[in-house]
Amino acid sequence: MKNWMRVLASHYETILRRYPGERLMILFDIDGTILDMRYMVLYVLQAYDRSHGSSFFRNLRISDVTVHENCVERLLAQLPLQPEKQEEILSWYLKHRWTSAAVLESHRPFGGVLEVIRWFLIQPDTYVGLNTGRPESLRADTLRSLNELGKDYRVCFTDELLHMNRAGWEQGVEDAKVEGVRHFQRQGYRIFAVVDNEPYNLKAISKADTQKSILLLHANTIFESKRIRMPRRTVRGKVYDLTELIPEKALPERIQFVWHGVNDKANLRQFLASDIHWAECDIRMDPVTNDLVLRHDSLEDTVPQEDEGSLTPDDLLSRLHKMDKGVKLDLKAGGMLVDKVLDMVSAYGFDDSHLWFNAKVERLQESGFRQLAFARPSAVLQCPVSFLAPVILSAPGKAKEILTMFTDWGINRFSISWLTPDMRQFFDQMDQWGFEVNIYDVPDLESFLQATLLMPRSITSDFNFPKWHYYGRGSGENGNHYEFSMRLNRGIRTF
Ligand SMILES: [Mg+2]
Repeated sequence: MKNWMRVLASHYETILRRYPGERLMILFDIDGTILDMRYMVLYVLQAYDRSHGSSFFRNLRISDVTVHENCVERLLAQLPLQPEKQEEILSWYLKHRWTSAAVLESHRPFGGVLEVIRWFLIQPDTYVGLNTGRPESLRADTLRSLNELGKDYRVCFTDELLHMNRAGWEQGVEDAKVEGVRHFQRQGYRIFAVVDNEPYNLKAISKADTQKSILLLHANTIFESKRIRMPRRTVRGKVYDLTELIPEKALPERIQFVWHGVNDKANLRQFLASDIHWAECDIRMDPVTNDLVLRHDSLEDTVPQEDEGSLTPDDLLSRLHKMDKGVKLDLKAGGMLVDKVLDMVSAYGFDDSHLWFNAKVERLQESGFRQLAFARPSAVLQCPVSFLAPVILSAPGKAKEILTMFTDWGINRFSISWLTPDMRQFFDQMDQWGFEVNIYDVPDLESFLQATLLMPRSITSDFNFPKWHYYGRGSGENGNHYEFSMRLNRGIRTF
């Protein structure tokens, strides 16, 4: 059976072609589809313990919760509890599971689902609607909790695009789902797909969809209704896998992509065969000869590999310029290196629009950055600022002062590592301040796509994406990333 995310991607493409200019909508159920309800079950049972001073659920793990949230009595029956106790706990659970506190504190999304939603939100003329069996009384809490969970992913749900069950708790849920579909259709949306974990809901929607144009996606998580014969257009899946959903050709054009570590011939060959515009290389000065060399690690710290040195900065720049590619030069020192690099890029005829300089602030210092900005005013001038993450989160005013000082030096792009703790909040703050941000240290295709969804100005990556037939080596570490995933790809586990 085909991967459901891939089916969704190709169906969406067809719909885009067939109905240009229309308002397209994908509808998501919430419980069991966006939210992993096992967390709620666990949270409420442990809350029982807390409020009763008991410890029945102290050792209960998320993986022990294998029942639907409406069938917790089955879970309780498996535990060493007296029947009267089971009943008491069950009624406490039913009374407390939808309190505001439980909704806000215990709800957790399935991995990848918010990214999938974000992907559709950034597509033109495309909307994500919520179609839930929850009653209207839960509207405010539902929006508040989902938007809290969505914040890090830049996902925001609105009141108008949330359809709830008017009939009340657990009543006529299937009818409410059909009513939700009709409600959005009346408002002029063309619904192209629905995602739900309950087979009965999908069946009801399928019946009501007379044009048979809605793709039915069954989130095969934990569901309450019996496993029934599903409508033929149903595709089942468990994992919200971005790498199946997003094809290379759909990458947003607004983002500049940079191929990391083009320091050797092998990686240059891979880079030149791609459509990626920017090549990043590491420039340092040989301490003995004072020549410029391409190298990530310092010559003092690590022994050069045998095949190194075979690609000189001159070779690289002349090839890149001939192919009309852009070059991002990571300068490993200031001083004389800056003069030499500026001379060299001029000698090969690079104009500012094809130039990008990166250096650490402590390496180049104010004078080095000012020199580059003066010589190449329209080039990208960047420094890494991951070291500011703790300051941004604790004293944002101070961090902004420092960043503003850097912009006074001529720096116009800030680079942050994907691996920085609290990276998403960090990025969000930088973005709100209006700084252009580059994300680097993006280890694999999945992280690359996650970074793409944040819509930074640029992303620097190894492009070691076997799934897309990209085998970038990265730089430093002797191409470890490359070796690592090549082995994984061949199914050999070496760790
Ligand atoms: Mg559901």
